[in-house]
Amino acid sequence: MADRVLLKNPMPHQDPAVRRRNFSEVALGYTEEAALSEAARCLNCKNMPCVAGCPVNIRIPAFIKKVREGEFEEAYKIITESSSLPAVCGRVCPQENQCEKRCVRGIKGEAVGIGRLERFVADWHNEHCKDLPELPAQNGHKVAVVGSGPSGLTCAGDLAKRGYKVSVFEALHLAGGVLVYGIPEFRLPKAIVQKEIDTLKALGVEIETNVVIGKTVTVDELFDDGYEAVFIGSGAGLPRFMGIPGESLKGVYSANEFLTRNNLMKAYLEDSDTPVMKAKNVAVVGGGNVAMDAARTALRLGAENVYIVYRRSLEELPARREEVEHAMEEGVDFKLLNNPVRIIGYNNPLDRRDPRNGSVIGMECIKMELGEPDERGRRRPVKIPGSEFVIDVDCVIMSIGTSPNPLIKSTTDGLIVNEKGGIIVEEETGKTSREGVYAGGDAVTGAATVILAMGAGKTAAKAIDEYIMSK
Ligand code: FAD
Ligand code: SF4
Ligand code: SF4
Repeated sequence: MADRVLLKNPMPHQDPAVRRRNFSEVALGYTEEAALSEAARCLNCKNMPCVAGCPVNIRIPAFIKKVREGEFEEAYKIITESSSLPAVCGRVCPQENQCEKRCVRGIKGEAVGIGRLERFVADWHNEHCKDLPELPAQNGHKVAVVGSGPSGLTCAGDLAKRGYKVSVFEALHLAGGVLVYGIPEFRLPKAIVQKEIDTLKALGVEIETNVVIGKTVTVDELFDDGYEAVFIGSGAGLPRFMGIPGESLKGVYSANEFLTRNNLMKAYLEDSDTPVMKAKNVAVVGGGNVAMDAARTALRLGAENVYIVYRRSLEELPARREEVEHAMEEGVDFKLLNNPVRIIGYNNPLDRRDPRNGSVIGMECIKMELGEPDERGRRRPVKIPGSEFVIDVDCVIMSIGTSPNPLIKSTTDGLIVNEKGGIIVEEETGKTSREGVYAGGDAVTGAATVILAMGAGKTAAKAIDEYIMSK
C-alpha cells in the first residue's frame, strides 16, 4: 500500500542567512530514511503518466519501486538506461513542469518527489560505487563532437558505448558546457559534473579543450581528418543586450560573462587572478534561471543589495519557482513590472582622467503594467508614461537571453540555420542539411534545458550509428 501522506518529504537546505554568503550547495539531498518514505508515496501506476512527462522516458515507477525495496544500485541501473547524467538532472531538471507535473499524486496534494529521488539514487551510487566502466570493444569508426555540454557529452557517451572512437572538441579550457560555466556551484557542484566526464573518458571518449571549431579547425577539416560524422552541440552562448544607452559602461556584464568568471574561472576565490567586480548594489535584468543564478552569485560575492528587474509580474517569471523562492529567502529584491530605460555612468567633466569616469552609478527604469495577451498568451507589458525612476547601482548584469553563436554556420558549407541562428535539423534524427553532420541541444532550439539537450544528443547518437553502419 502506498503511503497516503499528501506532501513530499521536505528537502533539507542550508539556512538562507548562512548560504547567502557561501558557494556550497543549497539543497542537501534526502537521507536514506527520507528517500524510502518518499518512494512509499508512489502508486506504481500501470499507465505511468510520469514517464510520458520525462523527455528521455526514464522508467520512473520501476526505479522508485527499487528505491522502496532498498535496492539503490538497481534503481541507478534503471535510470541510467535512459539518462547518462542523473545526478545533474536530479538537481536542475524543471521536474515540476515535466515528470512531476503528470504525477497522479499531484491531483490531491503534491507529486512524488521524482527529481529528489533521482538525485538520491545518483548520489548514493557515486558514494558507494567507485568503479569506472570498462572500455567497450572498438568498431574502428571515428566521430567528432563539437561542444562538451550535456548534448555533446550524451552523444559522445552513447557512441562510445557502441564502440566508436569519439573526440569531443571544446572551445573552453574545461569540459561540461553550461554545467560548469553557467550553473553555479551552489546549485550544481562541479565535482558531480567531473565524475560524469571521468566516466566518459573511461569509455574511451577523448576530450580536447581550447579548440574552437570554425577557428582552430573547421567542420570540413574534421571530415578530411577521417571523422565519418560530426555532431554539433555548441549551445547558445551568445548573449543578447537590450540596446539601451549605457550598455558599454564599466560595470555592465552579460550574465554569461559574469557567471563564467565566477564558476569556471573561480573569480570568487581570494587568490584567483580572474577579475570580477565585487559591487555593492547590483541590478540583474531578466527573470529566468540565468537571472536567478547571477543575482544569487552577486549576493555571495558580498553585494549589499541585489535587484531582479523584470518587466512582467511574479506570475510570469520564467525561472523555476524553487529558484525564485530561494533567491527571495536569501534577500534578493524583486523589482517586478519595471523595465530599464538607460544605464547611467559617472562623468567628471573637470577631470577626464578621473578613474570613476565611465563607471555605472545608476539605472533608470520605467514602471510597467500588463496589457493584452501576446501571441504566446502572456500578457504584454506596457509602459506607464511618466513613471521613470532611478535605482542606485554600481553593476548591471544583463540576463535577457542568448542565441547560438554564428561561427560554425559561417565556416561550414551547406549548414542551414533558422532566423534565430538555430541549426535546422530533422526532429527524429538530428540530421542537418549537410550530409554526415548532426546537431542538437541549444544550438538547435536556442536556450532550453539540460534534459532536452541530453535527449537530442541521444537521438543523434542513434542516427549517426545508423548512418555510418549503412555506408
Ligand atoms: P551547452 O551546455 O551550452 O554546451 C555547449 C558547449 O559548446 C560549451 O561548452 C561551449 O563552450 C562549446 N562550444 C561552443 N562553440 C564551440 C565551438 N565553435 N567549438 C568548440 N566548442 C564550442 N537548464 C535546466 O534544465 N535547468 C536549470 O536549472 C538550468 N539553469 C541554467 C542556468 C544558466 C546560468 C544557464 C546559462 C543555463 C541554464 N539551463 C538550465 C539551460 C541548460 O544549461 C542548457 O539548455 C544546456 O546546457 C544546453 O546544453 P548544450 O549541450 O546544448 O549546450
Ligand atoms: Fe524527471 Fe528530469 Fe528525471 Fe526525467 S530526467 S525523470 S524529467 S527529473
Ligand atoms: Fe508514481 Fe506518480 Fe508515476 Fe504514479 S504518476 S507511478 S504515483 S510517480
